[in-house]
Amino acid sequence: MQEMYDVVVIGGGVAGIFCSYLADNKGLKACLIEAQEFLGGQPISLYSQKSIYDYPGHYGIKAYQLVDLFINQLKNHSKVDIYKGSRITKYSSNSNIFKLTINNKFEITTKFLILATGVGLFQPNKIDSSLIKGNPNIIYNVSNLNEFVNKKVVVLGGGDAAVD
Ligand SMILES: Cc1cc2nc3c(=O)[nH]c(=O)nc-3n(C[C@H](O)[C@H](O)[C@H](O)COP(=O)(O)OP(=O)(O)OC[C@H]3O[C@@H](n4cnc5c(N)ncnc54)[C@H](O)[C@@H]3O)c2cc1C
Repeated sequence: MQEMYDVVVIGGGVAGIFCSYLADNKGLKACLIEAQEFLGGQPISLYSQKSIYDYPGHYGIKAYQLVDLFINQLKNHSKVDIYKGSRITKYSSNSNIFKLTINNKFEITTKFLILATGVGLFQPNKIDSSLIKGNPNIIYNVSNLNEFVNKKVVVLGGGDAAVD
């Protein structure tokens, strides 16, 4: 049977998580569609161990802890359907109803479609594998700082994530 929603939110970063939570909180039937196998967006993909000082009510909270709070609120206090590892593969609209196909597998409809896709689907720019010869010590995301205690580390790149 085709699932019918009032609101479909695409993008499971913090904006999409809270947006879908609020839709449910206001009595709307909502779902959240995230392309990755995990929710959280940039704070999880890029800087999960960084401390955040500018979020109201939480001084110095780690990014992954903040995202956990968002996810707990969504999962434990809403009826939002969560589709991870999912993308819209077909789209049409008529009479103010959007018809969406997820992963070429099943269809849903919605009255409102909200794009919360942030900077898009994050994929690291990987080094040419012939240069690194399968070295397992080259990583693209720090998920646990403790792994680096007492080790010498070289950071390649000088963007926000590298500086943080
Ligand atoms: C290194 C760094 C440090 C930062 N530090 C701070 C800080 O201290 N304080 C602060 O306030 N902000 C900080 N920011 C900024 C903050 O992380 C972003 O503003 C915030 O994450 C944006 O959230 P979002 O949900 O809008 O988008 P995103 O986090 O970009 O999430 C978008 C989500 O949409 C998904 N998506 C994209 N395209 C599709 C698609 N077609 N279908 C399905 N899913 C899709 C992605 O996989 C992702 O999960 C920092 C950013 C960086 C890079």
